[in-house]
Amino acid sequence: MSRVRILDLSFQELAALLTGWGEPPYRARQLWQWLWRKWATSFQEMTDLPSALRERLACEFQLEVARPGAVQLDAEEGTEKVLLSLLDGEKIEAVLIRDEGRRTVCVSTQVGCPVGCRFCATGQMGFVRNLTPGEIAAQVLHFARRLASGGERVTHVVVMGMGEPLLNYQATLRALHNLHHPQGFALGGRKMTLSTVGVVPGIRKLAREGLPLNLAISLHAPRDELRRKLVPWGKQWGVREVVEAADEYAAATGRRVTYEYVLLRGVNDGLREARELGKLLRGRLAHVNLIPFNPAPGLPFHRPPPRRVEAFREELLRWGVDVTVRRSRGVRIRAACGQLRTRVGAKDAGFSSRLP
Ligand code: SF4
Repeated sequence: MSRVRILDLSFQELAALLTGWGEPPYRARQLWQWLWRKWATSFQEMTDLPSALRERLACEFQLEVARPGAVQLDAEEGTEKVLLSLLDGEKIEAVLIRDEGRRTVCVSTQVGCPVGCRFCATGQMGFVRNLTPGEIAAQVLHFARRLASGGERVTHVVVMGMGEPLLNYQATLRALHNLHHPQGFALGGRKMTLSTVGVVPGIRKLAREGLPLNLAISLHAPRDELRRKLVPWGKQWGVREVVEAADEYAAATGRRVTYEYVLLRGVNDGLREARELGKLLRGRLAHVNLIPFNPAPGLPFHRPPPRRVEAFREELLRWGVDVTVRRSRGVRIRAACGQLRTRVGAKDAGFSSRLP
């Protein structure tokens, strides 16, 4: 019988379990801190727990759920992508982005992705399975350990890797709540960003979670007919409906919503689209993040030239919409937005080195 993955449990579940074993209440806090504050990789390390308890924990629980393998590093930017092997042999990618004082981990929530965005390497893999809460959080813990060796720590988490997080709602939110827990990793809600293609019921539910995350909507087109071509799965919700759900989120949390817009040359980067987007978002608690397309093998799109990007940005400003152009990190190691993919072999996925 396979052991329970301990990182899948909430603090309350862990506490109830230890109480059931006859342990005093403070044991749950001790164990939680070993897991989420000291990022232990084995129960044997937990030296302030009685040895009989450590043995029982090791018998009943699985601690390691994602084993780090090949790593690719962009030495110039400091961006680092790791391939993690899960217990069933599936593989996912997670990315560390260093940007001035920020150390951001970009996590995956699914193996592959069912949404199939035309411009995204992950989308071309198809969907394999959902990740568990522990498999999602383990990506952050991996980089927490890596950074700690250099006296650094993870400051932000973005849920923007492989997969659509709101199609794996329970596991994603469990992982984020666990990372948020004040006695463990203690990452503030404002330090976490969840990016969705616009799963309307999920956005509405998220507004009631009591965890004020930053919400990013991957919009990519200002009108339904164009969006259906780029984000085929997203056609069940129209652009208006998605934006209205995002408004609800902004109203419930007081957080400005970010709209991600991948600029594809000659597809969605014209002044017509900029005008439509401007009209759609003017007056809303919103911000647009323009992402010039990051090339990935086999994808039939191109990055627009800088003057087209600038014209798009200026048109949005004319409509009073706040906008930035994202400087993509990790393009050289295929760790940037839309470039993650694990089902094509390590060589194709851009891996070439291992860290010592
Ligand atoms: S962009 Fe996101 S939602 Fe779309 S296919 Fe890629 S991983 Fe899935």
